[in-house]
Amino acid sequence: MYKIPLSEIKEKIVASGKLSASDLDKKISVKINELSGLISEEGAAHIIANELGIELVSLSQSKLKIKQIYAGMRNVTTVGKVVRKFEVREFSKGDKVGKVCSLVLGDETGTVRVVFWNDQVEQLSGVKEGDILKVKDSFVKENNNDREIHLGNNGEIEINPDGENVNSVRESVVFERKKIGDLNDGDTGAEILGTVVQVFDPRFFQVCSSCSKRAVESADGSYMCAEHGVVQPTLSYVMNVVLDDGSGNIRGVLWKNQTNHLLEKSEEEVSVFKDDLSKFEDVKTDLLGEQFKLVGKVKRNEMFDRLEFNAQTVSKAKPEEEIARLETVE
Ligand SMILES: [Zn+2]
Repeated sequence: MYKIPLSEIKEKIVASGKLSASDLDKKISVKINELSGLISEEGAAHIIANELGIELVSLSQSKLKIKQIYAGMRNVTTVGKVVRKFEVREFSKGDKVGKVCSLVLGDETGTVRVVFWNDQVEQLSGVKEGDILKVKDSFVKENNNDREIHLGNNGEIEINPDGENVNSVRESVVFERKKIGDLNDGDTGAEILGTVVQVFDPRFFQVCSSCSKRAVESADGSYMCAEHGVVQPTLSYVMNVVLDDGSGNIRGVLWKNQTNHLLEKSEEEVSVFKDDLSKFEDVKTDLLGEQFKLVGKVKRNEMFDRLEFNAQTVSKAKPEEEIARLETVE
């Protein structure tokens, strides 16, 4: 059974014209009673839809819109625009080291997270935010009450395929807003809003262009990746800013993509600072006092015994959004 929210199942049944909303509610209670309460409302609604011959999911379509994708589906093909590309993360499981990278894909019906593991991560090296991505033969899991697309064994992606376009994206990802003073080590998916009170110079280093791991310069000037040997390196960087929201302050850690977002600069523009940090002074001054919204996770830096906020996304605070948020909280 696919994981379809109850409200959506009800909507689809009512839209078929075969039952009114109130008749449907009655029928759901009857069905639950018939089965001695051993079934959820969702389960009852599923059965009713089947009995009425209503197709809840579009299995006949070769390509699904993002809103038509539900946890439990297999062989899913979808097309969307890359709204966010997160940094590659390494993790260890037992004595194995793995890699994971995810991105948010969006179309006019919604957004969904797509996750790439280990060797699949390399397929993403050429993918940028704003690219159109066709994901083929993937399967859908549930994670944190949301859908998550994974590539199957035969799964593949096409970058900017001919004839595919996405004009607008309906943003639907919501994160939990926290006060900086309330953050704890290990918090994930937290959103903070803070004012920049201190800016540190970016640090530059080289990474392997296929796996994004640190590439070390050899005596002869070539670069070595622990996994790929001698490689053509790609420039990467990290930047720190201290954010304050009145409840406390925290050091935000921004890797390459997020540094580009914060500075509203391309990789080319940022790399200019590598050779001349004095050019960065004006940028620093401009950033002070600006408000940013960061989503990410909190980690204790053992060496300095302080919490740090690893940013997965960063965006300029929008005053109108913040006012709307205060109004809904009250
Ligand atoms: Zn490598």
